[in-house]
Amino acid sequence: MSTQKVVAEALGGSAGSCPYKIDKVLVESTWRPNIYIVDRYTSARGRIFLTGDAAHQSIPTGGDSMNTAVGDSFAIGGKLAAVTHGFGGRTLLDSYEYGPRPVAVRNIKRSGVHFSVHRQYIEWIPNKVKHYDAKSINSSANTPVRTKNTASK
Ligand SMILES: Cc1cc2nc3c(=O)[nH]c(=O)nc-3n(C[C@H](O)[C@H](O)[C@H](O)COP(=O)(O)OP(=O)(O)OC[C@H]3O[C@@H](n4cnc5c(N)ncnc54)[C@H](O)[C@@H]3O)c2cc1C
Repeated sequence: MSTQKVVAEALGGSAGSCPYKIDKVLVESTWRPNIYIVDRYTSARGRIFLTGDAAHQSIPTGGDSMNTAVGDSFAIGGKLAAVTHGFGGRTLLDSYEYGPRPVAVRNIKRSGVHFSVHRQYIEWIPNKVKHYDAKSINSSANTPVRTKNTASK
C-alpha cells in the first residue's frame, strides 16, 4: 500500500474516507519497534552521563519514553547542581548509575508488554486496520531488552 493511501486511511479513521486532500508526502521512513538500553549510564571515567533516548529506546505504546527521559535528566540534573554548589561529591554523581536505570529497564519492558497487547487487538480486527502489517513485527515485540554500551569515554 502506498504511503499516501496509509495516511489517507489514518486521517479518515473509522468515519471512512479522508476529508483532506494530500498533495505530497514529503518524508517517509520505515518504523520498527525497538527496545534497548545501555549497559551503563555513566562513562568509565565518570565524565559523561547519558539520559533519555541516548541511553534507551522503547516502543511508544504505553507512552513512557519521554517520562523516562525526563526522569533520567531530573536525577542527574539535581546531582550535578548539588556538586556544583558544594553540597555533594563524587559519590553523589556515582549514585546516578543506581537510580534511574532500573526504572528505565522496567519501563522498556512494559512498553513491550503494551505493544504485545496492542498487536493482539489488531489481529482481532484485521479488516479495520488493513495497512498495519502485524506479522512483520511479530517477533520484535517479544524481543528481550538488548544492551548497547555507548558510554565508553
Ligand atoms: C512516533 C513516536 C511517538 C512517541 N510517543 C511518545 C508518547 O506518547 N509518550 C512518551 O512519553 N514518549 C513518546 N515518544 C518518545 C519521546 O519522543 C522520546 O523518548 C523523547 O523525545 C526523548 O527525549 P530526549 O531528550 O532523550 O531525545 P530527543 O527528544 O530526541 O532530543 C534530542 C535532541 O538533541 C538534538 N541533537 C541531536 N544531535 C545533536 C548534535 N550533534 N548537536 C546538538 N543537538 C543535537 C536533536 O535535534 C534533539 O532536539 C515517541 C517517540 C516517537 C518517535
